[in-house]
Order: sequence, then C-alpha cells, then structure tokens
Amino acid sequence: MPSDIKFTIEKERKVQDQFLLAQENIIECANCRKALLNVLQGTGDESIVTFILVECPYCGDSSFRSRAKGKIYIQAANGLSISDMPMDIKEGARHTKIKVIKNE
Ligand SMILES: [Zn+2]
Repeated sequence: MPSDIKFTIEKERKVQDQFLLAQENIIECANCRKALLNVLQGTGDESIVTFILVECPYCGDSSFRSRAKGKIYIQAANGLSISDMPMDIKEGARHTKIKVIKNE
C-alpha cells in the first residue's frame, strides 16, 4: 500500500531527526584507544539504560563499559562494521557486548 509506505518513511525520518539533535559519543578501546563505535543518544524515555561494551578488532582487548540513557542509535567507527550485538536484559537494564570487525 503506497500510503503505508509513505507513513513509514516519514516516521523513520522523524526518528533520525531526533538523533541528529542528540549528543554523539565515541567509544574507544580501553587499551589501544582506537575509535570503535559511535553512539547517538536520543531523547525520549530515559528510564531505558543500556550498558555497552565493545570488543576491539585491532588488539583483542575491549572498551570500558559505557552507559547510555534513552533511545540510542549505534554505528561502527570508520573502517569497521558491527558483526554481532547480543542483548541481555538484567535488572531492568540492557547489556550488550558488541563485536566489530575490520572492513576488507
Ligand atoms: Zn584495542
């Protein structure tokens, strides 16, 4: 249905606009300090807390555990792609250990 598609696109654009206004954070490796992940924190329901840990594809170590509130949008840093992002719910918070790989 064309009208449904249009509605979906507009809704998505609204969500993206929210993220453009939000704060951007870069998660780095705790060991080699290379940038691993960009996290955009949106506004909205701040009761949702997400703990993020990123495994480093350069040295095999990982980032410090980062905490984000509300809706988040994540993107691998330049030259990297997200390969796995398992999500656990523990004591009302979301926990994820993100695996990123180097692009070919
Ligand atoms: Zn590293």
